[in-house]
Amino acid sequence: MSTNIIAIVGRPNVGKSTLFNRLIGQRKAIMDNVSGVTRDRSYGHGDWCGKYFTVIDTGGYVHGSDDIFEAEINRQVELAMNEADVILFMVDVDAGLTSLDEEFANVLRRTDKPIYVVANKADTNARMHQMGEFYALGVGIDIFPISSQSGSGTGELLDEVVKHFKDEGVEDPDAGIPKIAVLGRPNVGKSSFVNLLLGQERNIVTDIAGTTRDAIHARYNAFGKEFIIVDTAGLRRKSKVSEDIEFYSVLRSVRALEEADVCIVILDATRGIEAQDVNIIALAEKNRKGIVILVNKWDLVEKDTHTTKKFEDEIYSRIAPISYVPIIFTSVVTKQRIHKAIEVAMDVYENKTRKIPTSKLNDLLLPDIERYPPPAIKGKFIKIKYITQLPTHNPTFAFFCNLPQYVKEPYMRYLENRMREHFDFTGVPIRLLFKKK
Ligand code: GDP
Ligand code: GDP
Repeated sequence: MSTNIIAIVGRPNVGKSTLFNRLIGQRKAIMDNVSGVTRDRSYGHGDWCGKYFTVIDTGGYVHGSDDIFEAEINRQVELAMNEADVILFMVDVDAGLTSLDEEFANVLRRTDKPIYVVANKADTNARMHQMGEFYALGVGIDIFPISSQSGSGTGELLDEVVKHFKDEGVEDPDAGIPKIAVLGRPNVGKSSFVNLLLGQERNIVTDIAGTTRDAIHARYNAFGKEFIIVDTAGLRRKSKVSEDIEFYSVLRSVRALEEADVCIVILDATRGIEAQDVNIIALAEKNRKGIVILVNKWDLVEKDTHTTKKFEDEIYSRIAPISYVPIIFTSVVTKQRIHKAIEVAMDVYENKTRKIPTSKLNDLLLPDIERYPPPAIKGKFIKIKYITQLPTHNPTFAFFCNLPQYVKEPYMRYLENRMREHFDFTGVPIRLLFKKK
């Protein structure tokens, strides 16, 4: 099964993002917009009559100033030509044909991908008739008048578009690809880290030209690992310079955290662990995310044989009782352990998604329970009969027993420790539930 991709191109303000939002309907837009990084893409998933597709709003990129329109046109069209199965070239019937539309048409003529001209803002009959002038563009299989705002005409358009799909497509092309959030206070090195992973010096156009179709879904590929860096663009766009940038950056981190499978929390080695770092880690644990701590700027620290241990002790004591989080000492500047950081994040993802067979859980844990059973409470004995992993996104284990309400915190900790001894849950919060059997 392949991924069907629709790309929307066109000059600013014709209504691309309005159509994009309509096509993805209730489905979520996925934005990635890492500050300082050359990529800024918005794409989402939709379906029509049982066919799944991915839509790219090529205009979702950072808009350049007026004098770089030519580059902007090339960039959008190049992206669409490389990635799309069908290109929607959007124009505005209200504004009429403009010279920028003509420039787009000139570039679009270079591709043999199917193109439809979408005459947007055809809200009324009168406006719909104005679409005739766009035939002069001389591109596209056909012209469809639509109103992205009301949705009229979009069904007819999609009926045609889906005819170009090879098959019904995949519902969620990102399934199974680890989503990573890079979090931390300002200035710890987040964007330097992401830039290093992505290869810094490529400019947008060559970046896109080198992008394979699959790159949309396996969007980042560093050290041979595929992953998605989640970040939420929307919040930053809304924040005016005068507004509380710190507030928005926190909100943004929270959103990214919620979307992620694994959170890479970066600390600044020259400052040690601070209150806000502890908050981020606690929030990640509360949301049951995988967690990896990077102590970055390690190149700036004077080291002796005890330095690493001292840092680790300090961090573990501040984030107690969380003890399962790996800590890696990195330097983005000297590229120290950057590869390792990604490898560990991938391992954490593995640990988080692992499913343990019931038989294995019981074979390993029941002997532990027999050796050290839950203490009797009020003369009543607690018998744990069997254990099974629940089919949830985060490792959750149900312990079936006669008196679940009598299992207390210290015993739960004992069981959690035993589980962590038997199975690798490095970096992953696990949850134990006690159920009546
Ligand atoms: P983009 O820059 O191409 O992504 O354009 P937007 O989607 O941001 O839309 C630009 C403006 O056109 C916004 O004010 C939209 O509300 C408006 N707009 C979009 N679609 C329609 C439509 O079908 N009819 C009308 N009347 N306005 C629209
Ligand atoms: P962000 O705000 O977390 O995205 O931080 P930046 O990536 O913008 O980095 C803030 C500053 O720290 C920049 O001047 C970087 O060059 C510097 N920096 C980042 N990582 C390292 C590192 O590992 N070692 C040193 N010495 N400086 C670093």
